[in-house]
Amino acid sequence: MDALDVDDLVAGVLAGNRRAVARAISLVEDGRTELEDLSAGIYARTGRAATVGLTGAPGVGKSTLAAGLVTKARSAGIRVAVLAVDPTSPYTGGALLGDRVRMQEHATDPDVFIRSMATRGHLGGMALAAPEAVRILDAAGYQLVMVETVGVGQAEVEVAAATDTAVVVMAPGLGDAVQMAKAGILEVADVFVVNKHDREGAGELVRELRQMLHLGAARPWDPPIAQTVATTREGVDALWDAIQAHGTWAVETGARDAKRRARLLAEVESLAAERFREAATAVLERDPHLAGEVADRRTDPYRAAAELVRRSRADR
Ligand code: GDP
Repeated sequence: MDALDVDDLVAGVLAGNRRAVARAISLVEDGRTELEDLSAGIYARTGRAATVGLTGAPGVGKSTLAAGLVTKARSAGIRVAVLAVDPTSPYTGGALLGDRVRMQEHATDPDVFIRSMATRGHLGGMALAAPEAVRILDAAGYQLVMVETVGVGQAEVEVAAATDTAVVVMAPGLGDAVQMAKAGILEVADVFVVNKHDREGAGELVRELRQMLHLGAARPWDPPIAQTVATTREGVDALWDAIQAHGTWAVETGARDAKRRARLLAEVESLAAERFREAATAVLERDPHLAGEVADRRTDPYRAAAELVRRSRADR
């Protein structure tokens, strides 16, 4: 793709063209070098969308809830995008294909955009790829961008923490609150959902979760626990209201802007670190001599590292 194509792509994204948006997200997945120009072209037009993360163990009902939330958004006249990300797999498909099927009721709505995404080549993995894809959707005019993740590992927690409102979904029998606490997910949650309230153990899970939350330090925002049956849409109105309430609170108190600032800074830092790592790897590949010097005890690892930093910087 030449530079002219990137300009076209930027124009297409900014005009809200679906094909351009899909193509731009593919660039993010593949970590193509054109990404830098794309990012530069759209960045000034981002920051308008509200972003909501949906995180939880596989099978808790995230996709079904997302479909319900899309319906709520549409009835409020909001253009909405759903990005389903799989940080662990280099391929989309499989589990995520099912999500698309559940979203079928929205498939023909031009104001709904649904996309699964994996990271095949993006520097820094999903933690860096997801925010870039979200910005593309934001620049394309989607007022609400929901980011659904597949599991509850470190990468998912990072992706969730990078949204304005992180929603953590649980269901009876699918991973307990203690496990979630260990993954560090309780701390990043702004809204909890205990889904599958038609199943045994849901009330117990709510009590367990309340207890765990009370053990933690008091936070400026006390995360509510929504109780839903996603399949019948029971409780989805209340969940929508809870998400809106958090969004309003965060905007009014300045918490949203503070969070956005902090995560942009972290993103810049990670990007810089990734670039530096690439430069250092290139130096070492070109000149394996340095590693040999350390192995032969002619220089020590600290001095070798200092030398590598110096040469990598000179290299850039
Ligand atoms: P995800 O993997 O977290 O996205 O979960 P899905 O939305 O794919 O849901 C997993 C399965 O649970 C599907 O078969 C859903 O139909 C079902 N499911 C979702 N929500 C509920 C619920 O509230 N009650 C019951 N009984 N089943 C549900």
